[in-house]
Amino acid sequence: MDEHPSRDEDAHDLAACDHPACGRAEGREGCGAASRAGLVDRAERMARERGLQFTALRRRTLEVVAGEGRPLGAYDIAERLSAPGKRVAAVSVYRALDFLTENGLVHRIASRNAFVPCEHGHGGGESAVFLICRRCGTVDETVSAEIERSLDHTLARAGFKPASRIVEIEGECGACQGRGAPAGPPEAPAQ
Ligand SMILES: [Zn+2]
Ligand SMILES: [Zn+2]
Repeated sequence: MDEHPSRDEDAHDLAACDHPACGRAEGREGCGAASRAGLVDRAERMARERGLQFTALRRRTLEVVAGEGRPLGAYDIAERLSAPGKRVAAVSVYRALDFLTENGLVHRIASRNAFVPCEHGHGGGESAVFLICRRCGTVDETVSAEIERSLDHTLARAGFKPASRIVEIEGECGACQGRGAPAGPPEAPAQ
């Protein structure tokens, strides 16, 4: 399997990449490796503690999502997990992604129908704010106590029971603003 499938794509320029997963590792080859190993460790611990099965497909799906610097769709993941003569079906990947999402290891970015790793180790019911760059495609996850509180307040006032508490904000990341190039069309969502 390719250790870093986006290595050859201009969209993911590590020198300019401000994705937190990339800043931690040194050199292009190491991009995402640190967070990927940490996330897989966390998944193994969590599965042991909760008596859940961390199957090979769940692990490989998590590794692919964690090794990518931007949201990845289920079909892309299936593609990367497939070998000649041994196809992995997208429906199996979706099932693995359900497991990973329910257990707080990955998040689904609804506006992209794509998945990103969660490095915060928070529960599935907590809120998260995603800052999605339309130019380079990176996604930063932040957690904010203020937003958490005001969301609680707003939901209580509306008498609304949320199925998820994810806020997605599209725009331009700091690195892309610094580059100052004219904005191209938003990157096509990974399918
Ligand atoms: Zn998260
Ligand atoms: Zn950007």
